[in-house]
Parts: sequence; C-alpha cells; structure tokens
Amino acid sequence: MSLNTQILIAAIFGVAFGFLLNLYPHSQFFDSSLYLLALASSIFIGSLKMLIVPLIFSSIVVGVSNLEAGGQFSRVWKITFLCFITTTTLALGLGLLCAHLFEVGKGIDVTSFASAMQAHQTADSLTPASFLTNFIQNTLINPFKAFSEGNLLAVVVFALLIGVALVHGGDRYHVFRQLSQQFFELMMTLVGWVMKLAPIGIFALLAKLIASEDISVLSRLAEFAAVVTGTTLFHGLVVLPLLLWLFGRMQPLRFFRGARIALVTAFATSSSSATMPLSIECARKNLGVRPQTAGFVIPLGTQLNMDGTALYEAAAALFVANLIGLELNFTQQLVVCLTAMIASLGAPGIPSAGMVTMIMVLQSVGLPAEAIAILLPIDRLLDTVRTVVNVQGDMMISVVVDRYAQDVEHLPDTVQKS
Ligand code: ASP
Repeated sequence: MSLNTQILIAAIFGVAFGFLLNLYPHSQFFDSSLYLLALASSIFIGSLKMLIVPLIFSSIVVGVSNLEAGGQFSRVWKITFLCFITTTTLALGLGLLCAHLFEVGKGIDVTSFASAMQAHQTADSLTPASFLTNFIQNTLINPFKAFSEGNLLAVVVFALLIGVALVHGGDRYHVFRQLSQQFFELMMTLVGWVMKLAPIGIFALLAKLIASEDISVLSRLAEFAAVVTGTTLFHGLVVLPLLLWLFGRMQPLRFFRGARIALVTAFATSSSSATMPLSIECARKNLGVRPQTAGFVIPLGTQLNMDGTALYEAAAALFVANLIGLELNFTQQLVVCLTAMIASLGAPGIPSAGMVTMIMVLQSVGLPAEAIAILLPIDRLLDTVRTVVNVQGDMMISVVVDRYAQDVEHLPDTVQKS
C-alpha cells in the first residue's frame, strides 16, 4: 500500500477513533488512549520539529546560492513576493466579501459571551507600529540564539544573507557550498524517514484533536465557523488552483495528488512549520519543482505567506464588529486588511498563532481584543483548514515560480542537478 493511501486511511480512522473516545469520557479507556495518542503524536511532531531549523537554514542557503549562481535570484525573489502579495490580497478580499455576504455575527446575543470576555484579559495593546518594531528586533539577532530558540524568521534572514554572500564570494567558498548542499541532502534523508511515521502520527493527532475538543461549542458559532471554513475551502479549491492552472500550467488534480501527504499533515498538525519538511519533499519529488526553487520558496512562504490566516483574521474582525453592533466603514475595512496582511506575515507557523496576531487586527479599528475569547474555543478546529491552505499556497507558488524561473533558464548542468 502506498504511503499516500496509508495516510488517508489513517486520517479517516483517526477521526473515527476520536469520536469513539468522545463516547466514553472520564473512563479508563479514554485516559489511557489519550495518553498513548499523545505519546505517538509527540514522536511524530517532535521528529518534524527537530528538523525544522537545520532544514530551513540549509535549504535557503543552498536554494539562494544555486539560484544566484544561475543568475536567477533577482527574478525568483520578485516573482515569489509578487505571488505572496497577490494570493494574500485575494484571500483578504474573499474573507471580507463572504463575511459581508453572510453577515456573520449579526443577530447573535453578545451577552451570552460576556463572562468569557471578562475572564479574558489582554495585557498589552498590540499596534501595527509596535508589532513591526518587535518584528525587526526579533529578526536581526544573534543567529546562534535564533537557532537555539527556534526563531525561524531570524534563521530565514540569516540564511538568505549567507546564501547571497556565498555566491558573491565565488570559488573561495566552494567547500562551504558543497557542505551546505550535502547537509541539506542529509536533512532530506531524515525527512524521508520521518515520513514513514506519518500514518501513525496523523492517526494519533486527529484522534487526540477530536477527543479533546469540546465540539459542542461549535454549534453556538456554527454559522461563523461554516462561513470561514467554506470561504477558506473556496480559496483553496477554486482560487489557488485557478492561479496554478493559469500561471503554473499544472492540472489542479495533479497538484493535489502530489501534495496530499503535506496537506493531510498540515490538517493534522495545524502547523505549517512542522509540515514544511514534508512540503519541500512533496514539491521536489511529486510536483517536479527544482530543489533550489522549492528550497527557497517554501521555507520563506512558511514564514511569510499565510492566505488561510489572513482570510480568517479579516472575516473574524468583521464577525466581532457585527457581534457588538459596530459598522466598519470602508477605510476601517482597509485598515483591517492591511493589518491582517502584516499579522499573517508575522504569525509563526504554529497552532493558533493567528489568534495571537488577531489581537492586533481587532485593536487596529478599536474592537475589543477580549473578543478573541469568543473565538478561542473553536480556533483549534478552524486552524486545521486554514493551515492546509497556508501550506497549499506555498507549494503552489513554488510550482509557479519554478515555471517562470525556468523560462530564463541558463543554469549550468551541475546547478540544475543539485
Ligand atoms: N496554524 C497556522 C499555521 O501554522 C497559523 C495560524 O494560526 O493561522 O500556518
């Protein structure tokens, strides 16, 4: 049985087992199963997390230096950022449009959430200006500190600089270039091993998620959850595939077949960072993206490009405004979009990261940050789908960028094969 099939079966059984566990809460069976599931999922997630920092560093160094050596770097990064901005803007527009269309939050009795909001105190206010200052202060830091703390954005910036400097140094640094290349391949070998654990890990993660979430709260916010999930799926199943087909010349079905291991993992882990090793592997092996492009676009996208998160934050801001009966004017909605874009840029690829940066979006137009207390109980469930779309966006953009980069292909053979 192929790994793809094993993963899909594991996902279905995981969800089913989670529901089964929900039938026996507070039992010995529930407790010991949850313990075993937590153990199995932390082996899988832990192995992926172990690889993130060395993989991000080596893949960006190798990707940038190979692209730069082939004279493609300036073109590639421009196309990459253009794609990031375009897809995020479309996601934001879609989020706002659907929130308006379905009038999410209108007619819900806000007093039923009053105690949750009161209990939730947000200590500091988070303005876009302070957020940007923090962002810069946390990014330009001692790289060793960044490695040890797993500060991925700082690792990305340092790796980008090393990649460019390597090429500018020319032959002097060929040993380090080879070393990075080999180190990267070594990491990918480990990724291949971890992938074999994916069926067990995904089974455990999904069963644990379903068993430990209070599904009943979903019903109170069912309409909002359905609109956000439906819109996110529309972005992932219609908008992004259309762009892929138009600009990447790839059939969406072929993409989904090649990307499904990464997509199912994103769903189960709600973490685009933890999924990143598998996204790179799928893009290289199944989607035919050249290693240097996948190694540059995907780690960068994992940090900076989050369509699902941006869409969610825009829709949630409108939901909160409707809930408290505030009509946001056009300028305020523009501010929401801009802040949500910055927020998705700065959100780390970990579970519920979007909820933290969401405070900034709410505060940008004077909405009460405590309102996130209403959304928190359902966030873990909504996070699954938006993380899939975050990961999907990065992989699709790597296909598009690779196609455009190849149009000006003058790479020497050695670089292409590396
Ligand atoms: N969990 C998301 C991700 O890893 C981030 C978010 O919370 O929106 O991509």
